[in-house]
Amino acid sequence: AKVTRFGPSPTGFVHIGGIYVATIDQDVARRSEGRYLVRVEDTDQSREVEGALEQFERGFAYFGLQADEDAVRGGDYGPYRQSEREQIYLTYVRHLLREGRAYIDFATKDELASITARQQATKLPTGYYGSWAIWRDADAADVQAKLDAGEPWVVRFRAPDDTGQRVRFTDAIRGTIEAEANRNDVVILKSSDQSPRLPTYHFAHAVDDHLMRVNLVIRGDEWISSVPTHQQLFEALGFEPIQYAHIAPLMKQEGGSKRKLSKRKDPEASVDFYLEAGYPVPAVLYYLRGLANGRLAEMPLAEALDAPINLDECGVAGPLVDLVKLDDLAADYVATLSGEEILASVLEWAERFDPELKAVLESSRELALRALSVEREGVENPRKDLKKWSEFRTVYGFFFPQLHQAATGPDDERIAALGVAADVVRAVASDFVSAYRQLDDGQEWFQQIREVAAKHGFAKNAKEFKKDPDAYPGSIREASQIIRIAITGSTRSPDLHSITQALGAEETLRRFGNLVG
Ligand code: GLU
Repeated sequence: AKVTRFGPSPTGFVHIGGIYVATIDQDVARRSEGRYLVRVEDTDQSREVEGALEQFERGFAYFGLQADEDAVRGGDYGPYRQSEREQIYLTYVRHLLREGRAYIDFATKDELASITARQQATKLPTGYYGSWAIWRDADAADVQAKLDAGEPWVVRFRAPDDTGQRVRFTDAIRGTIEAEANRNDVVILKSSDQSPRLPTYHFAHAVDDHLMRVNLVIRGDEWISSVPTHQQLFEALGFEPIQYAHIAPLMKQEGGSKRKLSKRKDPEASVDFYLEAGYPVPAVLYYLRGLANGRLAEMPLAEALDAPINLDECGVAGPLVDLVKLDDLAADYVATLSGEEILASVLEWAERFDPELKAVLESSRELALRALSVEREGVENPRKDLKKWSEFRTVYGFFFPQLHQAATGPDDERIAALGVAADVVRAVASDFVSAYRQLDDGQEWFQQIREVAAKHGFAKNAKEFKKDPDAYPGSIREASQIIRIAITGSTRSPDLHSITQALGAEETLRRFGNLVG
């Protein structure tokens, strides 16, 4: 059984890469009948933002990610918030200090800068190590004097002296990795002038993952280079080594090159982007799972959501996030849903992002379902007109009298753009209204448009009209566009007859009101 964990930092930005990694965490844990836990990594209090945890919870819940143990639901291995684990870290720090595997360090910023400068000048590796480390082998009396004087200090790990040695470890994605041993005396406990006294990432990782009985650390590959340090910490603390899986980051194509999906530059890096747009969750999860494990991208959605993500099949190069591809998957997915299902999702989305739409849909539920049934229900290839729930207003807004105008704007300009004389427009609309009252069949409907157009001298087709534009008020195309615009407010729409059936006769006729004048 695998125990995995995700460690969000409450910085006020939830990265889609977090959903990506946590999806893998949850998948691996559930499949092995293990546990997936969430630990809040709030040791950098300067970066902390009010409300960040709620934001994290909301984003993760949207994607159906639910930890088995976390700060909210609890568990036997808590606290699940690093800022509440101060005493635990201090216990292990004291232990290392007593064993001589750690030491108190008073080096100032200036001293550290000067060490780096001298190392660079002599082309030595930079860092706080060996004889460069001022306080590594200091006299106890000197240390005590500094402490008595109230000088700020940190605790550093005393790296074992394996200078020049190579270490090996296996990564569940990359296989065996060889690297140089760590020689840096890394900080494990941050400055004494802060309260609570918090550990660095390296130390918290060792202590927490061990105590929370995590046995598979899935994390971003920016941590690979820290593994040699982490191995030393585990050894010094007397902990069993841990298994790692380092995940390559989500990437973005920019011109001819690839770079990491960036919080600063790419809106799609943010989980909020997907929530606000109302991306259907299964489509996004399907996409992300396919990015993690190419094999899953070859499967149909339902199958891929159910199939295991195999770590040894995950790529070592970061996969590209392509929103065009995601939109296609989303449109395909939405096309498999019923009107009822779409309406339910749109309502859920609107609850948070568009209360006006929600109110309209709730008061016109039947109309909404009729609108959604156009070219969807009972057809072999349903329309792929929606990718995300925020598009409902633009695509279906015209069905609703309350949203119609706002969705489409005034019709006059669109009608004027057809280039048909105003009195002809009025006559066509008015004749069509009289004819419409006697119609209820799609076949006759088109016949009727044709007849009305012929009566007012419209050309039978565009070609004929083009040959002699002055001879006609327009072609059959312009005539039917008058009717389409009157009903839908747009020159493009699904099947008009189906639309009028969804709208009902009364509303359909009402829409001719200002044309007929
Ligand atoms: N809070 C850490 C980060 O944001 C988590 C890394 C890990 O999973 O160990 O990078």
